[in-house]
Amino acid sequence: MTRPETPPKLRCPTCGARQDWSDTCRRCRCDLRLVHRALRAVDHHRRQCLEFLREDRYDQAWQAARQCCDLDDREENRQLLALVEFIRGNFPAAVRVARGPLEASPTAKSRQAESPEEIPRDSRQPLAARWPR
Ligand SMILES: [Zn+2]
Repeated sequence: MTRPETPPKLRCPTCGARQDWSDTCRRCRCDLRLVHRALRAVDHHRRQCLEFLREDRYDQAWQAARQCCDLDDREENRQLLALVEFIRGNFPAAVRVARGPLEASPTAKSRQAESPEEIPRDSRQPLAARWPR
């Protein structure tokens, strides 16, 4: 079974009304096109992340997962980022991400601290290659 491209129901960020997918809120007439665009971008980054994981491209997977969380800090997106951190061997970050919301607007400095360049070279190996057999 494949996941639909867009979710069937949407909650208006302005008034909270639950409704079918539409360009304007049925209750407050708020323009929802940007919300739709952001949710499609989250879905795109999520699929990209999974594809990068399949290809053992962990730095790109981390960036895609991080973009998901920056756009939508839902638990399922944090779980994806935590998974990528775990696979990369960055266990403290995996636990931190899995436990709670990310910083609302991370500063450039904190983003840099989490950047792939600071991950030790050996942790970029595929996970299976790092486990003893
Ligand atoms: Zn509304």
